[in-house]
Amino acid sequence: MHILLVEDDPALADSTARALRSQGWVVDVTARGEPVPLSVRQDPYDLVILDIGLPGIDGFETLRRVRAQGSATPVLMLTARDAVEDRVRGLDAGADDYLVKPFALTELLARARVLHRRAQARIDATLRLGRLKMDLDARRAFVDAQPLELSAREWSVLEYLLGRAGKVVAKEQILQAVAGWDEAISENAIEVYVSRLRAKLDAAGVRIRTVRGFGYLLEGAEDAGGR
Ligand code: CA
Repeated sequence: MHILLVEDDPALADSTARALRSQGWVVDVTARGEPVPLSVRQDPYDLVILDIGLPGIDGFETLRRVRAQGSATPVLMLTARDAVEDRVRGLDAGADDYLVKPFALTELLARARVLHRRAQARIDATLRLGRLKMDLDARRAFVDAQPLELSAREWSVLEYLLGRAGKVVAKEQILQAVAGWDEAISENAIEVYVSRLRAKLDAAGVRIRTVRGFGYLLEGAEDAGGR
């Protein structure tokens, strides 16, 4: 894990950085908030640990600037007192978690691990193949950067197939996965959704092959013998 620690108290910065490094993590330390937005843009940090009370711009303003440039890097805020308004302000500004000083270093390490795991899970919530990308959190699909318009049912069928890319999937399996919100759906309807998806995926480098008498196989166009 690559961590940026923003803390102006030299003793606290030193002990915190040492604890983080003892986990095998790489830690950069800065005492000021101003350089943080640029640092986060240039380096793919896994976590920013951000003190609120800083010389110059404070932790809230630092965080606001980081989020304003579209960065989703997990941020753990350090608040000097257990003030509800500080915590609410931090969370509102886009902090993922906070810790009240003085804190136990073991708790900081545990929080850091949780935030890292959560960020990893968020990354895994994206399915990709060829030029197709499905962001499962935002429920948006793209071919390259171009949004792909899908009906709710087309979305469900594609999500199911894309999650099992390269494997033959029975029509019955798709039916069961999609039938949760529509019991009346038929195998014929699945065929209709698949044919609409094929038309929409034409430019995506993704093919849905029919496996006769059984179901479908979604694969990258280059795997389909197109070379
Ligand atoms: Ca401080």
